[in-house]
Amino acid sequence: MTANIKKSARRFLREYKINILSFERISKIIKSQGYKIIRFCKAYNDENIEILINVLGLKEYVQAYSAFTYVDNNYRLVFLEDNISEQEALILLTHEEGHIYNGHFGKTVIAGENTTDEFEANEFTHYLLNPPIINKAFAFISTHKIISTMLCCSIFVTIGGSISTSIILTQQTYYREYYATPSGKKYHKAECIYIRDKQTKRRVSKDDIKNEKLEPCKVCLPELRKD
Ligand SMILES: [Zn+2]
Ligand SMILES: [Zn+2]
Repeated sequence: MTANIKKSARRFLREYKINILSFERISKIIKSQGYKIIRFCKAYNDENIEILINVLGLKEYVQAYSAFTYVDNNYRLVFLEDNISEQEALILLTHEEGHIYNGHFGKTVIAGENTTDEFEANEFTHYLLNPPIINKAFAFISTHKIISTMLCCSIFVTIGGSISTSIILTQQTYYREYYATPSGKKYHKAECIYIRDKQTKRRVSKDDIKNEKLEPCKVCLPELRKD
């Protein structure tokens, strides 16, 4: 299943000749597929949108989700919350495109109630927003960071053996470059779209992840060894 989604994501990137996907671009693609994007607010909408939401019986979806896609014989609508950042909007629209492009609209009008579909849309988002070339560039940056950390450690080694040992042990518990925002409940890879431009991010260790019960981000899909 994962392999298929990866292939599907690659096909999508080729088909639309995308190097880096932007909010503008994904919006245009979705519109070119015959969908209308409707920006809504949870609290207040102007009359036409409010009527549409009520007629289609989507009130509870508007309350529960920041984005969802509605399909019936007459309408193809992607609902997207209005008061969100462009980064978030990009992620949410890419997720909805994941449902559209992978044909999740068979019997149901709304995707989102099927766990497999959700997983596939998240995978699709992951591959579209982390294309291989960018991954390589960030991998280089991460390696670079590790090297400079190691250099710091070796400087301490020359100062005092006992201090350096404890520093190296602390470093090891990080084991990978994972980050979270100060109040965030998820942890991310360094290159994740949610974290990479954040000024206030902090690096989290395995223990931090465990103690704070941080969840892996659904976009960058960080792994954690269970040892
Ligand atoms: Zn979904
Ligand atoms: Zn992430």
